[in-house]
Amino acid sequence: MINKMLSEKVKVIKPSGIRKFFDIAATMEGVISLGVGEPDFPTPTSIREAGIRSIVDKGTTYTANVGLMELRRAISKYLEKRFHVEYDPADQILVTVGASEAVDLALRAVVNPGDEVLVPEPTYVSYAPSAILAGGVAVPVPTYEKDDFRLTADVIRSLITPKTKAIVFCYPNNPTGAVMEKADLMAIADVLREHDILVIADEIYAELVYGIEHTSMATLPGMYEKTLLINGFSKAFSMTGWRLGYACGPAPLVDAMKKIHQYVIMCAPTMSQWAAIEALENGMPEVERMVAEYDKRRQTIVHGFRNMGLSCFEPRGAFYCFPRISDLGMTSDEFCNRLLEAEKVAVVPGSAFGDSGEGFIRVSYAYSIDSINKALVKIDRFIQSIK
Ligand code: PLP
Repeated sequence: MINKMLSEKVKVIKPSGIRKFFDIAATMEGVISLGVGEPDFPTPTSIREAGIRSIVDKGTTYTANVGLMELRRAISKYLEKRFHVEYDPADQILVTVGASEAVDLALRAVVNPGDEVLVPEPTYVSYAPSAILAGGVAVPVPTYEKDDFRLTADVIRSLITPKTKAIVFCYPNNPTGAVMEKADLMAIADVLREHDILVIADEIYAELVYGIEHTSMATLPGMYEKTLLINGFSKAFSMTGWRLGYACGPAPLVDAMKKIHQYVIMCAPTMSQWAAIEALENGMPEVERMVAEYDKRRQTIVHGFRNMGLSCFEPRGAFYCFPRISDLGMTSDEFCNRLLEAEKVAVVPGSAFGDSGEGFIRVSYAYSIDSINKALVKIDRFIQSIK
């Protein structure tokens, strides 16, 4: 009976391919996981202490729906300093429960029934389901290994229709580690500028780049007015459980998102907001330390996969690598299941991130170098055994 009551929109959404896999791994003993996209570092001490102090000294009540003014000011300063983009803390910034909430609010604020949302793939798992729940249609935009998984102007142009309302953009990318440098973004901006399409730019990995500078879509000529910049504290500051993110953009859009947020959330967790102020004001040396550590792991893991004879695109951002396993004669799902069974190593099938991820596996290097080295030995043994 209850099944009949569920909404059609919920029924068509598949459970996350990442979670499904880890539920299986969780039932086994001694599994080495390189599967989850979650920093293995604890939240830096001064940030944890700021959260604790806030509970003792500042109280535990709601904040303003849009978030503490002190935090919005700190976000504004941080974005200007780090990424050269200015937002007014008074009406252009909304503090959310993670970047995840910001993506959902943005889509619900702009999508009318049947509107199309372009989703470059392979990509983070929440965008297409969020577009569908908002009443829209998710249109996959494939990216390819031959282009270093960068989005190209021609593919976008070919998929734009009068119904296209938004594009959800994630660079540095989960799961490929691809980045879009300024020239790449310029080419995309040239196409988008001609259309009324909102760019929802999820830049949660902006701090995690290796040897390049992150460019925000909002800084390109003509794009500020049509870009919603989303970021958060989970990845750069290792604050996944604090559930804090933010969205910045044109005031009418932020105001529309605030309407939804105030009814379903009220405000992001108060103590997390105080901790986040400390993160932005004093946390950057810790971020730099963690990024240097990820960079070492990145080099180890890419080298490891290439030594096994797999084609492995060099990730320039985030903390994932995306080696190709298609030459081994099995799907990415089969590969991951058989690897888990044979060697108790958990990685994620590329197909969990969209059809264009098929033939690849996502391997997170947000794990200790020791786990990475142990897993590489086991993956190599597995590959040799099936050749
Ligand atoms: N966006 C991307 C691209 C991600 O990879 C993730 C988590 O893996 C999120 C958003 C979720 O971020 P948050 O913890 O801020 O909700």
